[in-house]
Order: sequence, then structure tokens, then C-alpha cells
Amino acid sequence: MPAEGAMGAGSANGSAGAPIETDAVIIGAGPVGLFAVFELGLLDMKTHVIDILDKVGGQCAELYPEKPIYDIPGLPIVTGQELTDRLMTQIKPFGPTFHLGQRVDALERLGEGRFRLTTDSGTQFITKVVVVAAGGGSFTPKRPPLAGIEAYEGTSVFYSVRRIEEFRGKDVLIVGGGDSALDWVLNFSPSPTG
Ligand SMILES: Cc1cc2nc3c(=O)[nH]c(=O)nc-3n(C[C@H](O)[C@H](O)[C@H](O)COP(=O)(O)OP(=O)(O)OC[C@H]3O[C@@H](n4cnc5c(N)ncnc54)[C@H](O)[C@@H]3O)c2cc1C
Repeated sequence: MPAEGAMGAGSANGSAGAPIETDAVIIGAGPVGLFAVFELGLLDMKTHVIDILDKVGGQCAELYPEKPIYDIPGLPIVTGQELTDRLMTQIKPFGPTFHLGQRVDALERLGEGRFRLTTDSGTQFITKVVVVAAGGGSFTPKRPPLAGIEAYEGTSVFYSVRRIEEFRGKDVLIVGGGDSALDWVLNFSPSPTG
């Protein structure tokens, strides 16, 4: 988990043991979850952050680390990864603990205003505050229904653009008609052809 190490925040693996008691648990380490660490930290609250991904940053780090973003107040232009790195720097003083590669599967209300969360690794948390910063949900690619497509994934079939350079000079077919598709047409131009 290089992001945590580099930023000095704590990280924990998914071994099941005694429940972790904490002030607040944040589900999702996307930009909203990371900034929640800052806001709760200002209130002197200790936070644990859980994400199914193996890194922090949510969509920004997973789906478009190199794409420029133009609509962040105070940052005229920043990439998805730079925004993530800046958020990690901003929350470093509050020392959050990250539990990456774990999906929150259960949330139960206990007595006295407390909650218990359980992840798919069996880690349990007891907390008074739960922040759901799950964005569009946990990530799994929507595979087109083509037999054998798995064999091409990572070589000629991609579900996100991690490194723009990998596509330089190549013919690229973008499948999809949403905002992201148009975003990548603009950002690829004129690097690849097609
Ligand atoms: C290609 C693309 C380009 C974009 N460009 C822009 C842009 O230029 N400007 C802009 O403002 N926005 C842009 N967006 C949208 C922006 O990325 C999202 O609005 C933003 O990431 C939402 O932040 P978030 O923290 O709420 O959620 P997310 O970034 O979705 O993070 C939520 C996190 O929660 C985790 N999670 C969910 N459920 C669970 C669970 N049960 N257990 C554990 N973890 C869980 C997920 O794994 C994820 O990491 C873009 C989106 C895409 C896909």
C-alpha cells in the first residue's frame, strides 16, 4: 500500500480479531472519504477508512489518475492522482488508519448509539459514527457479453486508463457514449489515432 506508507498514515491488513473500537469509520477512500478524515480530524475524532480497492483515491486514482480535472476550487488544473496525493498530504496530521482491499458487507445498529461494521475479511469495527462515502459503489468492470474477453484484458481490452502513454501511437476504439467516453476522446487527442 504505497500511498499510505509514503504519506505516513497507518494501514492495517484484514485479519479477523477483536473488534476495532474507534470514533468514526469511513466507508470509501475516494476524495469524499479522504476529506471526511480532515473534517472529523478537526473535531478531534480518530478515523478508520475502509476501501475495497488496494489504493486510496476512489475513481480519481483507479479510473483516471492522469486525466486533468478543471473543477476543483483553488486548483485550476490537477490530475486524479495529484488530487489524491494532495488530499493525503492534507489529512496526514490526523493519522487515519486505512483498511484497503476490504469490502464492508454488514452494518448493524447496536445499543447506545453505536454501530458494528463487518468486512468481507471478517474485520469488525465498533463506532458511533459511520460516514458512507461509497461514491458509485465498489468497483467491478461492466464486461461486455463477449465470450473469452478475459483473455484480452490488460493487453488490448481496458476498463480504465491508468497510463496515457501506454496508448500513444495506437488505434483506440472507445466503447460507450457517456461523459467519460467523450472525456477520453479529448484527452487522448492527438496522442493515439482513431
Ligand atoms: C472517467 C471519469 C472522469 C471524471 N472526471 C471528473 C472531473 O473532471 N471532475 C469532477 O468533478 N468529477 C469527475 N468525475 C467524477 C468524480 O470522480 C466522482 O464524482 C468522485 O470520484 C466521487 O468521489 P467519492 O469519494 O464520492 O466516490 P468514489 O471516488 O467513487 O470513491 C468511493 C470509494 O468507495 C469504495 N467503496 C464503495 N463501496 C464500498 C464498500 N462496501 N466497501 C469498501 N469500499 C467501498 C469504492 O471502492 C471507492 O474507492 C469523473 C469520473 C470518471 C469515472
